[in-house]
Amino acid sequence: MSTKHAKSATLFIRNREQEQWHNETLWFVRQKRDNMAMRIPEWEDLRELAGKIKMHTVSRLDFYLEMFSSEAERNGITVHWAKDAREHNEIVYSILEKHQVKKLVKSKSMLTEECLLNPYLIEKGIEVVESDLGERILQLMGEHPSHIVMPAIHKKREEVGKLFEEKMDSEKGNSDPTYLTHTARRYLRREFLTADAAMTGANFGVAQTGEVVVCTNEGNADMGTSLCKLHIVSMGIEKIVPDLKSLGVFTRLLARSATGQPSTTYTSHYRKPKEGGEMHIVIVDNGRSEIKGDSEHVQTLKCIRCGACMNTCPVYRRSGGYSYTYFIPGPVGINLGMLKCPGKYYDNVSACSLCYSCNNVCPVKIDLADQIYRWRQNLDSLRKADRTKKLMSKGMKFLFTRPALYRTVLKMAPAINYLPRIFVYNKLNAWGYGRELPRFAGESFTSMWKKGKIRKTNKQ
Ligand code: SF4
Repeated sequence: MSTKHAKSATLFIRNREQEQWHNETLWFVRQKRDNMAMRIPEWEDLRELAGKIKMHTVSRLDFYLEMFSSEAERNGITVHWAKDAREHNEIVYSILEKHQVKKLVKSKSMLTEECLLNPYLIEKGIEVVESDLGERILQLMGEHPSHIVMPAIHKKREEVGKLFEEKMDSEKGNSDPTYLTHTARRYLRREFLTADAAMTGANFGVAQTGEVVVCTNEGNADMGTSLCKLHIVSMGIEKIVPDLKSLGVFTRLLARSATGQPSTTYTSHYRKPKEGGEMHIVIVDNGRSEIKGDSEHVQTLKCIRCGACMNTCPVYRRSGGYSYTYFIPGPVGINLGMLKCPGKYYDNVSACSLCYSCNNVCPVKIDLADQIYRWRQNLDSLRKADRTKKLMSKGMKFLFTRPALYRTVLKMAPAINYLPRIFVYNKLNAWGYGRELPRFAGESFTSMWKKGKIRKTNKQ
């Protein structure tokens, strides 16, 4: 029985060319990350320290959140608390309504994706413009991100060129990246100049100072917040770091892990409203407090959304972000989806080869693969275990606990080599799509050993 993930992945890999460049592009980013990490001798210590700082902060979240909010308010920022996505959206809308905002310019925020803010605001009559280039491309195409850092990584520049011809009146057939970037810049500049309010996410919230830190490569967050008097920040409760010293640990790790850059092009610190303007921070829980109480999965709260676990994941690279049913794909998305609603997102746990590469690259040392393994072990108790796999496991157990039967079956196994293909490669053998079974040896190792066909060596 194929899972939803397997079915969507099948569609993705049908286009072999697409599968290949998607895989190669992400692997290239992973290699850039490795080069950066190798240049820092204390890299592993930094990862260790980052993980510990995050766990420390998560274990004293109430204390640090209070410190953050009182410092922010002291700086003239209005702080709001949202227990879930609905409250978050209502708070944002009430601020916009009060200021009679007609157009909102946004920089990339996975939290607003999580809360489905855009459709909510659009329904209320507010024009929402994504200003991150990848996000804007997807917004114009009516699609959602397939990667948390490079949202349009699955799009080829020819597709973008065609889109820009339609939406931005660009030259026909011109898909030169520099030309397309200049076109988008001209187009977005008009949007910035006519927007009434700016919205950003937050990569970090510094408890000691009450400031938020936003990292971008395009400067779009800075454009929006410089031109508009109203700035709204959407921030998850887990984004808090204790102080500026610990912030430095994360900014050293983030860009290197995400894109293989020494730092993001823009690392902007927002500490107070613009003169004559307003700044609001909406601090969102939306299920995070429950994760805090879950000792097996609390580590997911350490995530700094760098996307490194996606870039390295052999399944993500070859199946694409849309093959996952949760809006965050890859190893961290598998875990977050299960924490959100196991009954809805359970099929993603099969999208893992348990190679543990994600554990090895995660800058905050989250045990992603261990968690996925645990979810798999619990599938049966959730009544979501694959029936075919269950049946096969029972069959294997039956066979492996009966040595005589096992040996007989093994003797007969080479007969498979002579069966017509349809008996082996059919709908029941999902593994066989695109793969060939090795030929069974005519005689088993044990039998050859017993007959002395294999020379025994004694190295004593
Ligand atoms: S789980 Fe780790 S590697 Fe994956 S996005 Fe989060 S911080 Fe990055």
